[in-house]
Amino acid sequence: MKQKSGCGSVTWNGKRNGSGAAPATLIPGDGVGPEVIGAAIKVIAACGVKIDWDEQVAGAAAVKRVGSPAPPALIASLKRTRIALKGPLETRVGEGYRSINVYLRKTFDLFANLRPTRSFPGVNARFSNVDLIVVRENTEDLYAGIEHQVTPGVVESVKVITARASTRIARFAFEFARRNGRRSVTAIHKANIMKLSDGLFLKCARRVAAEYKDIQYNERIVDAACMRLVTEPSEFDVLLLENLYGDIVSDLCAGLVGGLGMVPGANYGDRGAIFEAVHGTAPDIAGKGVANPIAAILSGALMVEYLGHHEAAERIRTAVAQVLKARRVRTPDLGGKARTDEVAEAIIRAMERAA
Ligand code: ATP
Repeated sequence: MKQKSGCGSVTWNGKRNGSGAAPATLIPGDGVGPEVIGAAIKVIAACGVKIDWDEQVAGAAAVKRVGSPAPPALIASLKRTRIALKGPLETRVGEGYRSINVYLRKTFDLFANLRPTRSFPGVNARFSNVDLIVVRENTEDLYAGIEHQVTPGVVESVKVITARASTRIARFAFEFARRNGRRSVTAIHKANIMKLSDGLFLKCARRVAAEYKDIQYNERIVDAACMRLVTEPSEFDVLLLENLYGDIVSDLCAGLVGGLGMVPGANYGDRGAIFEAVHGTAPDIAGKGVANPIAAILSGALMVEYLGHHEAAERIRTAVAQVLKARRVRTPDLGGKARTDEVAEAIIRAMERAA
């Protein structure tokens, strides 16, 4: 399978099976993962796109079942399908195995993490006009996992920034902006302090920006950018960030539009993609059937779009918007009383009414 790195632009062209279904790996994940992913696959089935799911365990669920967080069967499935819908995976703080999310992104070189963050009418949030695209570099920075103890009481974590990865992610952001009619790309950095690493990231972004005269290019220091995002988010359009700033700013942006249950995500590489919500395992609500499935459902819409079904993806988004606008069926994080599966059913009914 081959595709251009550029999403919106990106289209999968792998082989479908005999019944016309596209093969894809399904990773329910940990915590609220099985609940929200269960909701997402029902909505995908109802939108009419056929997918031949290969369900695999990963993370804590896989450790429990087969003794490894990334079992060989999972890796074999991803190598075969090159596309997955994935729930969040548990990563213990300060101990245990390395993040399987990071491992998968690096193993399959899914270098671009895209997180479209927008307001929906009917959702109470501080702003009603947020429409941001977070583009996060996924393969390096402090996530390179190079840490060591120099001497007891002193440790070092190495921040790796390369011209290759910085140029590649900048090009992805500009290409996305151009193909999706976006007006600007803002590179977010701390090059006043990290002159070499963030300086190199900026240098690469500027070089790429010079090739895209139709897209306005801005730069903002990360702390100032956070302040502007929570006071004047409409100032921004596409945000271009290194890995760690991208992680933090994504959650901040989710807070602008109603919380982590609202924001979908996609990890794109040149030869595959993994779709997953921005949120984590939400252990505080896991197993209660009240997790908001909208982030997972919208991640499913991104996957359906990647498979080339643009209208079906739009049907899902329109139905999500209708259900939110009606304010009747919503999970507790949005001030409602509905359960996860009730939200999925309401979205499916909205799609059926529109058909
Ligand atoms: P992890 O360690 O897996 O990242 P976490 O609890 O640190 O887990 P999140 O899972 O992102 O981080 O959750 C942060 C907060 O947002 C929690 O209070 C959680 O309940 C809430 N949250 C996250 N996802 C959802 C969701 N889909 N629906 C409702 N609330 C959610």
